[in-house]
Amino acid sequence: MNIRNYHSLLDLNTFKVNVNAEFYINIQSEKDLLEILKNTSHKKIFILGGGSNILLTRNIKGLVIHNQIKGIKIKAETNKHTIIEVGAGELWDRVVEWSTERNLYGIENLSLIPGYIGAAPIQNIGAYGTEIKDVFQELKAINLQTKEIHIFNKSDCQFGYRDSIFKNKLKDKLIITKITIKLSKKNTLNLSYKAIKKEIEKINHKQLNSKDIREIIIKIRKQKLPDPQYIGNAGSFFKNPIINQDTLNEIKKIHPDVPVFKNTNQMKIPAGWLIEKLNWKGYRENNCGVYNKHSLVLINYGNASGKDIVNLSQKIKQDVNQKFNIKLEEEVSII
Ligand SMILES: Cc1cc2nc3c(=O)[nH]c(=O)nc-3n(C[C@H](O)[C@H](O)[C@H](O)COP(=O)(O)OP(=O)(O)OC[C@H]3O[C@@H](n4cnc5c(N)ncnc54)[C@H](O)[C@@H]3O)c2cc1C
Repeated sequence: MNIRNYHSLLDLNTFKVNVNAEFYINIQSEKDLLEILKNTSHKKIFILGGGSNILLTRNIKGLVIHNQIKGIKIKAETNKHTIIEVGAGELWDRVVEWSTERNLYGIENLSLIPGYIGAAPIQNIGAYGTEIKDVFQELKAINLQTKEIHIFNKSDCQFGYRDSIFKNKLKDKLIITKITIKLSKKNTLNLSYKAIKKEIEKINHKQLNSKDIREIIIKIRKQKLPDPQYIGNAGSFFKNPIINQDTLNEIKKIHPDVPVFKNTNQMKIPAGWLIEKLNWKGYRENNCGVYNKHSLVLINYGNASGKDIVNLSQKIKQDVNQKFNIKLEEEVSII
Protein backbone atom coordinates (compact mmCIF):
# COMPACT_ATOMS: atom_id res chain seq x y z
CA MET A 1 0.00 0.00 0.00
CA ASN A 2 1.32 3.29 -1.11
CA ILE A 3 0.64 6.50 0.84
CA ARG A 4 1.25 9.52 -1.37
CA ASN A 5 2.26 12.94 -0.13
CA TYR A 6 0.65 16.15 -1.44
CA HIS A 7 -1.61 14.31 -3.84
CA SER A 8 -3.76 16.45 -6.16
CA LEU A 9 -7.53 15.99 -5.73
CA LEU A 10 -8.33 17.94 -8.92
CA ASP A 11 -9.60 14.86 -10.78
CA LEU A 12 -11.17 13.32 -7.68
CA ASN A 13 -13.90 15.92 -7.07
CA THR A 14 -16.64 16.70 -9.59
CA PHE A 15 -16.48 20.46 -8.85
CA LYS A 16 -12.95 20.20 -10.32
CA VAL A 17 -11.44 22.30 -7.57
CA ASN A 18 -7.66 22.22 -7.42
CA VAL A 19 -6.59 21.29 -3.89
CA ASN A 20 -4.22 18.68 -2.42
CA ALA A 21 -4.44 15.96 0.17
CA GLU A 22 -1.54 16.15 2.61
CA PHE A 23 -1.51 12.34 2.53
CA TYR A 24 -3.57 10.11 0.25
CA ILE A 25 -4.18 6.39 -0.01
CA ASN A 26 -6.35 4.32 -2.29
CA ILE A 27 -7.91 1.34 -0.47
CA GLN A 28 -9.07 -1.78 -2.34
CA SER A 29 -10.07 -4.16 0.47
CA GLU A 30 -11.35 -4.19 4.05
CA LYS A 31 -8.20 -6.01 5.13
CA ASP A 32 -5.96 -3.22 3.77
CA LEU A 33 -8.22 -0.63 5.32
CA LEU A 34 -8.00 -2.19 8.80
CA GLU A 35 -4.23 -2.44 8.47
CA ILE A 36 -3.95 1.23 7.55
CA LEU A 37 -6.27 2.30 10.37
CA LYS A 38 -4.29 0.23 12.89
CA ASN A 39 -0.92 1.57 11.79
CA THR A 40 -1.64 5.18 10.96
CA SER A 41 -0.52 7.97 13.25
CA HIS A 42 -2.75 10.51 11.47
CA LYS A 43 -5.36 11.99 13.79
CA LYS A 44 -7.28 13.58 10.90
CA ILE A 45 -8.79 11.20 8.38
CA PHE A 46 -11.11 12.19 5.53
CA ILE A 47 -13.02 9.57 3.55
CA LEU A 48 -13.35 10.26 -0.16
CA GLY A 49 -15.78 8.51 -2.48
CA GLY A 50 -16.53 9.80 -5.99
CA GLY A 51 -16.14 13.43 -4.80
CA SER A 52 -19.56 14.37 -6.24
CA ASN A 53 -21.16 15.78 -3.11
CA ILE A 54 -18.33 17.88 -1.69
CA LEU A 55 -16.95 21.36 -2.24
CA LEU A 56 -13.29 21.52 -1.25
CA THR A 57 -12.29 24.98 -0.03
CA ARG A 58 -8.77 24.15 1.20
CA ASN A 59 -6.00 21.57 1.11
CA ILE A 60 -6.96 18.55 3.22
CA LYS A 61 -4.76 18.07 6.29
CA GLY A 62 -4.02 14.53 7.43
CA LEU A 63 -4.87 11.36 5.52
CA VAL A 64 -7.42 11.08 2.72
CA ILE A 65 -8.65 7.50 2.34
CA HIS A 66 -10.11 6.92 -1.11
CA ASN A 67 -12.48 4.00 -0.70
CA GLN A 68 -12.24 1.72 -3.74
CA ILE A 69 -13.58 -1.50 -2.20
CA LYS A 70 -15.52 -3.04 -5.09
CA GLY A 71 -17.72 -6.06 -5.83
CA ILE A 72 -21.42 -6.90 -6.23
CA LYS A 73 -22.41 -10.19 -4.58
CA ILE A 74 -25.82 -11.89 -4.42
CA LYS A 75 -26.37 -12.56 -0.71
CA ALA A 76 -29.82 -14.15 -0.81
CA GLU A 77 -32.58 -14.86 -3.27
CA THR A 78 -36.29 -15.65 -2.92
CA ASN A 79 -39.16 -15.83 -5.42
CA LYS A 80 -39.78 -12.15 -4.87
CA HIS A 81 -36.42 -10.56 -4.08
CA THR A 82 -32.69 -10.54 -4.74
CA ILE A 83 -30.55 -9.20 -1.90
CA ILE A 84 -27.13 -7.91 -2.90
CA GLU A 85 -24.08 -6.85 -0.92
CA VAL A 86 -21.97 -4.20 -2.63
CA GLY A 87 -18.47 -2.90 -1.85
CA ALA A 88 -18.65 0.78 -0.87
CA GLY A 89 -16.25 1.80 -3.65
CA GLU A 90 -18.50 0.50 -6.42
CA LEU A 91 -19.94 3.21 -8.68
CA TRP A 92 -23.58 3.74 -7.77
CA ASP A 93 -24.70 3.90 -11.39
CA ARG A 94 -22.97 0.62 -12.17
CA VAL A 95 -25.07 -0.98 -9.43
CA VAL A 96 -28.22 0.48 -11.02
CA GLU A 97 -27.14 -0.82 -14.42
CA TRP A 98 -26.35 -4.27 -12.93
CA SER A 99 -29.82 -4.35 -11.38
CA THR A 100 -31.77 -3.29 -14.48
CA GLU A 101 -29.82 -5.70 -16.70
CA ARG A 102 -31.16 -8.50 -14.46
CA ASN A 103 -34.70 -7.14 -14.64
CA LEU A 104 -34.68 -6.21 -10.95
CA TYR A 105 -36.65 -3.27 -9.56
CA GLY A 106 -36.24 -0.60 -6.91
CA ILE A 107 -33.37 1.68 -7.90
CA GLU A 108 -34.00 2.44 -11.60
CA ASN A 109 -35.26 5.97 -10.74
CA LEU A 110 -31.84 6.67 -9.20
CA SER A 111 -30.03 6.13 -12.51
CA LEU A 112 -27.07 8.34 -13.41
CA ILE A 113 -26.51 9.73 -9.91
CA PRO A 114 -22.72 10.05 -9.72
CA GLY A 115 -20.53 8.81 -6.88
CA TYR A 116 -20.02 5.54 -5.04
CA ILE A 117 -22.59 3.41 -3.25
CA GLY A 118 -20.68 3.94 0.03
CA ALA A 119 -21.80 7.58 0.15
CA ALA A 120 -25.37 6.89 -0.98
CA PRO A 121 -26.80 6.29 2.54
CA ILE A 122 -24.99 9.35 3.94
CA GLN A 123 -27.41 11.77 2.35
CA ASN A 124 -30.02 9.12 1.55
CA ILE A 125 -29.70 9.81 -2.18
CA GLY A 126 -32.96 10.44 -3.92
CA ALA A 127 -34.51 11.32 -7.27
CA TYR A 128 -37.85 10.98 -9.05
CA GLY A 129 -39.74 9.80 -5.97
CA THR A 130 -37.26 7.12 -4.86
CA GLU A 131 -34.62 7.18 -2.12
CA ILE A 132 -31.98 4.59 -1.24
CA LYS A 133 -33.79 4.04 2.07
CA ASP A 134 -36.59 2.32 0.08
CA VAL A 135 -34.31 -0.63 -0.75
CA PHE A 136 -31.80 -0.38 2.09
CA GLN A 137 -31.19 -3.41 4.31
CA GLU A 138 -27.97 -2.77 6.24
CA LEU A 139 -24.45 -1.44 6.01
CA LYS A 140 -21.11 -2.34 7.48
CA ALA A 141 -18.81 0.38 8.77
CA ILE A 142 -15.57 0.69 10.70
CA ASN A 143 -15.17 3.26 13.47
CA LEU A 144 -12.12 5.38 12.57
CA GLN A 145 -11.05 5.77 16.21
CA THR A 146 -11.82 2.41 17.84
CA LYS A 147 -11.44 0.36 14.60
CA GLU A 148 -14.51 -1.62 15.68
CA ILE A 149 -16.84 -3.00 13.01
CA HIS A 150 -20.51 -1.98 13.25
CA ILE A 151 -23.61 -3.10 11.37
CA PHE A 152 -26.38 -0.51 10.88
CA ASN A 153 -29.89 -1.56 9.94
CA LYS A 154 -32.39 0.81 8.37
CA SER A 155 -33.70 2.34 11.59
CA ASP A 156 -30.15 2.78 12.97
CA CYS A 157 -29.40 5.01 9.97
CA GLN A 158 -32.15 7.56 10.87
CA PHE A 159 -32.81 8.36 7.22
CA GLY A 160 -34.51 11.66 6.38
CA TYR A 161 -34.73 13.95 3.37
CA ARG A 162 -31.09 14.06 2.13
CA ASP A 163 -30.12 13.17 5.66
CA SER A 164 -29.03 10.34 7.97
CA ILE A 165 -27.18 9.75 11.22
CA PHE A 166 -23.92 9.82 9.18
CA LYS A 167 -24.45 13.53 8.42
CA ASN A 168 -25.18 14.28 12.08
CA LYS A 169 -24.11 12.37 15.22
CA LEU A 170 -21.74 10.06 13.32
CA LYS A 171 -20.40 12.62 10.85
CA ASP A 172 -16.78 11.78 9.87
CA LYS A 173 -16.61 9.05 12.54
CA LEU A 174 -16.93 5.95 10.34
CA ILE A 175 -15.91 4.48 7.06
CA ILE A 176 -18.65 2.54 5.32
CA THR A 177 -17.29 -0.60 3.62
CA LYS A 178 -20.32 -2.63 2.47
CA ILE A 179 -23.98 -1.91 1.73
CA THR A 180 -26.77 -4.45 1.44
CA ILE A 181 -29.89 -3.62 -0.60
CA LYS A 182 -33.04 -5.58 -1.41
CA LEU A 183 -34.26 -5.50 -5.02
CA SER A 184 -37.62 -6.70 -6.21
CA LYS A 185 -38.19 -9.31 -8.93
CA LYS A 186 -41.73 -7.99 -9.35
CA ASN A 187 -42.41 -4.95 -11.52
CA THR A 188 -42.68 -2.15 -8.92
CA LEU A 189 -42.06 0.87 -11.15
CA ASN A 190 -42.56 4.29 -9.57
CA LEU A 191 -43.88 6.48 -12.39
CA SER A 192 -45.34 9.23 -10.22
CA TYR A 193 -43.16 12.05 -11.57
CA LYS A 194 -44.56 14.23 -14.36
CA ALA A 195 -41.32 14.23 -16.36
CA ILE A 196 -41.35 10.40 -16.46
CA LYS A 197 -45.01 10.26 -17.50
CA LYS A 198 -44.32 12.73 -20.33
CA GLU A 199 -41.48 10.59 -21.72
CA ILE A 200 -43.59 7.42 -21.47
CA GLU A 201 -46.34 9.08 -23.54
CA LYS A 202 -43.79 9.77 -26.25
CA ILE A 203 -42.49 6.20 -26.58
CA ASN A 204 -45.94 4.64 -26.65
CA HIS A 205 -45.19 1.15 -25.45
CA LYS A 206 -47.10 -0.44 -22.63
CA GLN A 207 -45.03 -3.12 -20.90
CA LEU A 208 -42.21 -1.09 -19.40
CA ASN A 209 -39.47 -2.64 -17.31
CA SER A 210 -36.73 -1.21 -15.09
CA LYS A 211 -34.31 -0.96 -18.01
CA ASP A 212 -36.80 1.20 -19.98
CA ILE A 213 -37.23 3.51 -17.00
CA ARG A 214 -33.47 3.69 -16.53
CA GLU A 215 -33.16 4.88 -20.14
CA ILE A 216 -35.90 7.46 -19.64
CA ILE A 217 -34.29 8.80 -16.45
CA ILE A 218 -30.89 9.03 -18.14
CA LYS A 219 -32.46 10.97 -21.02
CA ILE A 220 -34.25 13.41 -18.67
CA ARG A 221 -31.17 13.94 -16.51
CA LYS A 222 -28.86 14.53 -19.47
CA GLN A 223 -31.17 17.27 -20.73
CA LYS A 224 -31.11 19.28 -17.53
CA LEU A 225 -27.95 18.49 -15.56
CA PRO A 226 -24.38 19.36 -16.52
CA ASP A 227 -22.03 16.42 -17.02
CA PRO A 228 -19.25 16.83 -14.42
CA GLN A 229 -16.78 15.43 -16.92
CA TYR A 230 -17.09 18.70 -18.85
CA ILE A 231 -18.53 21.23 -16.37
CA GLY A 232 -17.48 21.15 -12.72
CA ASN A 233 -20.49 20.81 -10.40
CA ALA A 234 -21.91 18.70 -7.55
CA GLY A 235 -25.55 18.47 -8.61
CA SER A 236 -28.09 20.33 -6.44
CA PHE A 237 -26.18 22.74 -4.25
CA PHE A 238 -29.07 23.42 -1.82
CA LYS A 239 -31.79 21.24 -0.33
CA ASN A 240 -35.42 22.05 -1.05
CA PRO A 241 -36.48 24.05 2.02
CA ILE A 242 -39.21 22.81 4.32
CA ILE A 243 -41.60 25.70 4.95
CA ASN A 244 -44.62 26.47 7.11
CA GLN A 245 -48.09 27.66 6.04
CA ASP A 246 -47.43 31.33 6.98
CA THR A 247 -44.34 31.52 4.77
CA LEU A 248 -46.26 29.86 1.94
CA ASN A 249 -49.14 32.33 2.30
CA GLU A 250 -46.71 35.26 2.10
CA ILE A 251 -45.09 33.91 -1.08
CA LYS A 252 -48.50 33.16 -2.61
CA LYS A 253 -49.49 36.84 -2.31
CA ILE A 254 -46.88 37.68 -4.95
CA HIS A 255 -46.52 34.29 -6.70
CA PRO A 256 -49.84 32.42 -6.62
CA ASP A 257 -48.28 29.78 -8.89
CA VAL A 258 -45.58 28.75 -6.37
CA PRO A 259 -44.98 24.97 -6.66
CA VAL A 260 -45.25 23.03 -3.39
CA PHE A 261 -44.50 19.37 -2.60
CA LYS A 262 -46.67 18.09 0.22
CA ASN A 263 -46.40 14.86 2.15
CA THR A 264 -47.99 13.81 5.42
CA ASN A 265 -46.26 16.26 7.73
CA GLN A 266 -44.10 18.52 5.60
CA MET A 267 -44.28 21.10 2.83
CA LYS A 268 -41.33 21.76 0.58
CA ILE A 269 -40.69 24.41 -2.08
CA PRO A 270 -38.19 23.70 -4.87
CA ALA A 271 -35.09 25.72 -4.00
CA GLY A 272 -34.40 25.99 -7.75
CA TRP A 273 -37.73 27.81 -8.23
CA LEU A 274 -36.85 30.38 -5.53
CA ILE A 275 -33.42 30.98 -7.05
CA GLU A 276 -34.82 31.25 -10.56
CA LYS A 277 -37.48 33.75 -9.45
CA LEU A 278 -34.65 35.99 -8.22
CA ASN A 279 -32.99 35.84 -11.66
CA TRP A 280 -29.86 33.92 -10.70
CA LYS A 281 -30.26 31.34 -13.48
CA GLY A 282 -27.32 31.63 -15.89
CA TYR A 283 -25.57 34.23 -13.67
CA ARG A 284 -21.79 34.18 -13.91
CA GLU A 285 -19.27 35.65 -11.50
CA ASN A 286 -15.66 35.28 -12.69
CA ASN A 287 -15.01 31.55 -12.89
CA CYS A 288 -18.20 30.22 -11.36
CA GLY A 289 -21.91 30.62 -11.83
CA VAL A 290 -25.43 29.23 -11.79
CA TYR A 291 -26.14 26.66 -14.51
CA ASN A 292 -28.36 28.09 -17.26
CA LYS A 293 -30.61 25.00 -17.43
CA HIS A 294 -31.01 24.40 -13.69
CA SER A 295 -30.82 27.12 -11.03
CA LEU A 296 -30.02 24.69 -8.22
CA VAL A 297 -26.70 23.73 -9.78
CA LEU A 298 -23.62 25.90 -9.22
CA ILE A 299 -20.86 25.39 -11.74
CA ASN A 300 -17.14 25.87 -12.08
CA TYR A 301 -16.26 27.33 -15.48
CA GLY A 302 -12.66 26.21 -15.07
CA ASN A 303 -10.47 27.84 -12.48
CA ALA A 304 -12.83 28.71 -9.66
CA SER A 305 -11.64 27.97 -6.15
CA GLY A 306 -13.88 26.35 -3.56
CA LYS A 307 -14.03 29.73 -1.81
CA ASP A 308 -15.27 31.49 -4.99
CA ILE A 309 -18.12 28.99 -5.19
CA VAL A 310 -18.93 29.34 -1.48
CA ASN A 311 -19.01 33.16 -1.88
CA LEU A 312 -21.50 32.88 -4.74
CA SER A 313 -23.62 30.44 -2.74
CA GLN A 314 -23.69 32.87 0.21
CA LYS A 315 -24.98 35.68 -2.03
CA ILE A 316 -27.76 33.44 -3.31
CA LYS A 317 -28.64 32.35 0.23
CA GLN A 318 -28.79 35.98 1.43
CA ASP A 319 -30.98 37.02 -1.48
CA VAL A 320 -33.44 34.14 -0.93
CA ASN A 321 -33.54 34.92 2.79
CA GLN A 322 -34.17 38.64 2.21
CA LYS A 323 -36.83 38.24 -0.48
CA PHE A 324 -38.63 35.07 0.67
CA ASN A 325 -37.70 34.85 4.37
CA ILE A 326 -36.40 31.30 3.75
CA LYS A 327 -33.01 30.01 4.91
CA LEU A 328 -31.52 27.69 2.32
CA GLU A 329 -29.40 24.81 3.59
CA GLU A 330 -26.53 23.29 1.59
CA GLU A 331 -26.95 19.75 0.27
CA VAL A 332 -23.26 19.66 -0.70
CA SER A 333 -20.71 19.17 2.13
CA ILE A 334 -18.38 22.16 2.29
CA ILE A 335 -14.95 21.01 3.42
C1 LIG B 1 -24.42 15.93 -11.77
C2 LIG B 1 -24.79 15.47 -10.39
C3 LIG B 1 -26.08 15.04 -10.13
C4 LIG B 1 -26.43 14.58 -8.84
N1 LIG B 1 -27.71 14.17 -8.64
C5 LIG B 1 -28.09 13.73 -7.42
C6 LIG B 1 -29.42 13.28 -7.19
O1 LIG B 1 -30.25 13.23 -8.10
N2 LIG B 1 -29.76 12.87 -5.94
C7 LIG B 1 -28.86 12.87 -4.92
O2 LIG B 1 -29.23 12.46 -3.81
N3 LIG B 1 -27.58 13.29 -5.11
C8 LIG B 1 -27.18 13.71 -6.32
N4 LIG B 1 -25.89 14.15 -6.52
C9 LIG B 1 -24.96 14.21 -5.39
C10 LIG B 1 -24.01 13.00 -5.27
O3 LIG B 1 -23.83 12.35 -6.49
C11 LIG B 1 -24.48 11.96 -4.24
O4 LIG B 1 -24.69 12.57 -2.99
C12 LIG B 1 -23.49 10.80 -4.07
O5 LIG B 1 -24.05 9.82 -3.23
C13 LIG B 1 -22.14 11.23 -3.50
O6 LIG B 1 -21.28 10.12 -3.60
P1 LIG B 1 -19.70 10.27 -3.63
O7 LIG B 1 -19.12 8.90 -3.62
O8 LIG B 1 -19.31 11.14 -4.76
O9 LIG B 1 -19.44 11.00 -2.25
P2 LIG B 1 -18.29 12.07 -1.88
O10 LIG B 1 -18.63 13.39 -2.51
O11 LIG B 1 -16.95 11.52 -2.16
O12 LIG B 1 -18.50 12.17 -0.30
C14 LIG B 1 -19.66 12.76 0.25
C15 LIG B 1 -19.57 12.65 1.77
O13 LIG B 1 -19.63 11.29 2.16
C16 LIG B 1 -18.44 10.89 2.88
N5 LIG B 1 -18.13 9.52 2.40
C17 LIG B 1 -17.96 9.10 1.14
N6 LIG B 1 -17.77 7.77 1.10
C18 LIG B 1 -17.81 7.33 2.38
C19 LIG B 1 -17.66 6.06 3.00
N7 LIG B 1 -17.44 4.94 2.30
N8 LIG B 1 -17.74 5.98 4.37
C20 LIG B 1 -17.97 7.09 5.10
N9 LIG B 1 -18.10 8.33 4.57
C21 LIG B 1 -18.02 8.45 3.23
C22 LIG B 1 -17.39 11.93 2.52
O14 LIG B 1 -16.43 12.05 3.55
C23 LIG B 1 -18.24 13.17 2.33
O15 LIG B 1 -18.51 13.78 3.56
C24 LIG B 1 -25.48 14.60 -7.81
C25 LIG B 1 -24.17 15.03 -8.08
C26 LIG B 1 -23.83 15.46 -9.35
C27 LIG B 1 -22.41 15.90 -9.62
